[in-house]
Amino acid sequence: MARVRTTFVVQNTIRLSEHLIRVHLGGPGFAAFQPNGFTDAYVKLAFPGADGDIMRTYTVRSIDPAAQEIAIDFVYHGDEGVAGPWAVAAEPGDTIDLLGPGGAYAPRADADWHLLAGDDSALPAIAAACAALPGDAVGRVFVEVSAPADELAFVHPEGVELTWIHRGDADPGERLAAAVRAEPWLDGQPHVFIHGEAQAVMDDLRPYIRKERGITAEWASISGYWRRGRTEEGFRRWKSELAESEKGTPAGV
Ligand SMILES: Cc1cc2nc3c(=O)[nH]c(=O)nc-3n(C[C@H](O)[C@H](O)[C@H](O)COP(=O)(O)OP(=O)(O)OC[C@H]3O[C@@H](n4cnc5c(N)ncnc54)[C@H](O)[C@@H]3O)c2cc1C
Repeated sequence: MARVRTTFVVQNTIRLSEHLIRVHLGGPGFAAFQPNGFTDAYVKLAFPGADGDIMRTYTVRSIDPAAQEIAIDFVYHGDEGVAGPWAVAAEPGDTIDLLGPGGAYAPRADADWHLLAGDDSALPAIAAACAALPGDAVGRVFVEVSAPADELAFVHPEGVELTWIHRGDADPGERLAAAVRAEPWLDGQPHVFIHGEAQAVMDDLRPYIRKERGITAEWASISGYWRRGRTEEGFRRWKSELAESEKGTPAGV
């Protein structure tokens, strides 16, 4: 990931749904921002803290070269944390430093079909991927949000069927995993993109895709974006421990 640190300025914010806030960032920092072509392009945002910067990871939902802006969609998950509360209070003229972008996934043109699934934190990356698919693409998309008030219209090819899952009082990712598992598998080679609450993704959907469906790593981008009950620092520690414990596990499943 590009390590250049740039300062962006909040241009405006839009309340997209009950829990999703779009922040348009522009200003002089835009000139140094180098798009990387990945639909899951992400940046590290630096929030000033008492003991130094608190870093948080967010997807670049879209880039507008004419307006010289990027858009980031933040899940507002309550008063806990740093980034969610910052987004809900952000006002034009506020500044934020960022590093990046990094990224790893864009829908492969040689796939027969696409499977994309995630919760609201992955909705920006899923929507960006759907916007990049050709008009004749075939696929299935599952997005878990809290309730119907969090559903958000986004562009996707006609052959890519979108299903909204409502979390309600279930654990994050539980109903999403059940829906993905229940979906009949299409013919041919899928390209898979699944991200969201880490435990649901790594303990349930990853083994389903990699082991039960036999999809190899080059055709599957699967990981957690956040972890229930942990801040991003705690989540990063959990990821390192998981990676350490999986060393030597065949196919990383
Ligand atoms: C590559 C990547 C891309 C990402 N893109 C996006 C994006 O575009 N939009 C986005 O909103 N998030 C995205 N995330 C997830 C985001 O980084 C985390 O949700 C992050 O923890 C939010 O920071 P915070 O300061 O608001 O909360 P933290 O201080 O990290 O956590 C405080 C508490 O809130 C809980 N929490 C954190 N996130 C959520 C959530 N989404 N829902 C419910 N509870 C939560 C934590 O478990 C913890 O208990 C992405 C993560 C990665 C790794």
